[in-house]
Amino acid sequence: MTKATSGARPRTVPQRTCIACRSTEAKRALVRVVRTPEGRVELDPTGKKNGRGAYVHEQRACWDEALKKDRLARALKVQVPAPDLAELKAHAETLAATS
Ligand SMILES: [Zn+2]
Repeated sequence: MTKATSGARPRTVPQRTCIACRSTEAKRALVRVVRTPEGRVELDPTGKKNGRGAYVHEQRACWDEALKKDRLARALKVQVPAPDLAELKAHAETLAATS
């Protein structure tokens, strides 16, 4: 006999919290931003780079929030270098704004 697991998922899906809207989501719905050992802050589409990571929904609204309110800097405990910030902004701009 199996135990009653109503509402539980059959398999555990890794959950991560978006640093902008604070909601948890399956890892694959979020994009990882990593602070590298060199102090750079960059996108980690593979999710496999070494370093402290933060997750943001792959959505314009969350990226805007994360970048405008210094959420990334706080989550990663580092000042985001200007060139890296520019790159992340460029990434945010490729995402369609939610109307
Ligand atoms: Zn979000």
